Amino acid sequence: MAGIQISSVAKRFGAVAALNDVSLTVGQGEFIALVGPSGCGKTTLMRIVAGIESADAGRILVGGRDVTRSRAADRDIAMVFQSYALYPHLTVAQNIAVPLAMRRLSGADRLPLLGRFLPGAARRRAAIAQDVAAVARSLGLEAMLDRRPGQLSGGQRQRVALARAIIRRPAAFLMDEPLSNLDAALRVQTRREIVDIHRAAGVATLYVTHDQTEALTMADRVAVMMAGRILQVATPEEIYADPQDLRVATFIGSPRINTLAAEAGADGVVRLAGEAVGLVATPGPLTLALRPEDLWIAESGIAATAEAVEFLGESVLLHARHASGEPVILRLPPEAPRPRPGTALRLGFDPARALLFDAAGRRVAAHAPAERALV
Ligand code: ATP
Repeated sequence: MAGIQISSVAKRFGAVAALNDVSLTVGQGEFIALVGPSGCGKTTLMRIVAGIESADAGRILVGGRDVTRSRAADRDIAMVFQSYALYPHLTVAQNIAVPLAMRRLSGADRLPLLGRFLPGAARRRAAIAQDVAAVARSLGLEAMLDRRPGQLSGGQRQRVALARAIIRRPAAFLMDEPLSNLDAALRVQTRREIVDIHRAAGVATLYVTHDQTEALTMADRVAVMMAGRILQVATPEEIYADPQDLRVATFIGSPRINTLAAEAGADGVVRLAGEAVGLVATPGPLTLALRPEDLWIAESGIAATAEAVEFLGESVLLHARHASGEPVILRLPPEAPRPRPGTALRLGFDPARALLFDAAGRRVAAHAPAERALV
């Protein structure tokens, strides 16, 4: 199978288990964003796929070929990292041409004087120049081909780095935080450009970021990693609305999903501070999780006290506190009435959108009771 297949990869650094039995398949033409907090093992996994680091166990296939023991240069992978790693003394055109020159020109071809007189060298150079022009055109870099990296903006430099990566037509792309050096506006623009390039090239792409907005907006599927394990791989919509692990639920979404300690009694009725919340689950301690936009101020429901309001333009965040002391944030329309700090509130929610997790943080099924209880 084409794309990238990572099977049961493990890696330790002394006492630190950086990767535990990690498996992930990036299909042909697929874009997977790998997200997770700092230190969870993202970079280590990328370095192992790239062949810069070796795994203690497991296998890596690229384009259907087992490359576990291949050198980085023999893996048919192009990499784009946050530092652009352009050659400062070469022009944009020369920088983009580097991978082709390495592959298509002999050592003698590349010599400045002798190279000109070798048979076929001129033809090979012309073919490279044509490929460079085509890639530069597709990335809007035509006007900059004679400049040096020092004469470009950060976004333009990143585009040159992308051009250099795609010109090789690799079997896979690895991108590690390629936008982190760009300012906010440029990130949004370059985000779209990378997605467009990926679509046009149709190459399996593994994209590391700690920015969940980047992951949700760019990827076909998102892989959430924590403490050296991949917890869930799913479409952005599923990861957001249907997280299978409490750590995934709390990592994805801003503001963070609200979490409240709850309990399902022997009768299965889920109660929050003694009040039934309209759900039935397997008896035991639970966490009830609700996105800020899934709560509203109601006549009855979860008891809370208003604390502060933040105006965000397109919405308002109402910070409140549950009777248990746990914070609760609501995202309300900007025109909604804003309760004063200290006001006692009741918060309603749609039980169909409530997420329940067991004591180990695993998602558990929540059912609406036969007869609807409170809320
Ligand atoms: P960040 O988002 O901060 O870059 P990350 O998810 O990429 O983090 P890794 O760099 O892969 O995380 O690191 C995973 C774990 O392995 C961390 O605990 C890190 O301290 C450890 N680690 C990584 N490289 C080495 C190394 N060469 N020697 C020892 N420990 C290492």
